[in-house]
Amino acid sequence: MIKVEKTQSSLKKCICEKCPSYTKCSKEKNEKLFCAKEVGKSSCEKEMNGCICGTCPIQKENFLLVGYYCINGSAEEIENKIGK
Ligand code: SF4
Ligand code: SF4
Repeated sequence: MIKVEKTQSSLKKCICEKCPSYTKCSKEKNEKLFCAKEVGKSSCEKEMNGCICGTCPIQKENFLLVGYYCINGSAEEIENKIGK
């Protein structure tokens, strides 16, 4: 079971703010670390303009494989959906 938690250290490592799909709306709401179970899908409208999760240390540390958590929901939610 994949579980990324919203900790200060994970928030610091998250690189969502550098992503082409990251929006002004998300910045204003101070939201990132979408792969974490406490965060998940963004409350802002998002377009798929690329996802840089693949180069993020959190993705590597937790053996995550998907990406676009801001659109698809947290890593845990995705895992439950695909019934892993
Ligand atoms: S894997 Fe993606 S959503 Fe999760 S911390 Fe890294 S950049 Fe943010
Ligand atoms: S989850 Fe992926 S697509 Fe969404 S903002 Fe973070 S890096 Fe970009």
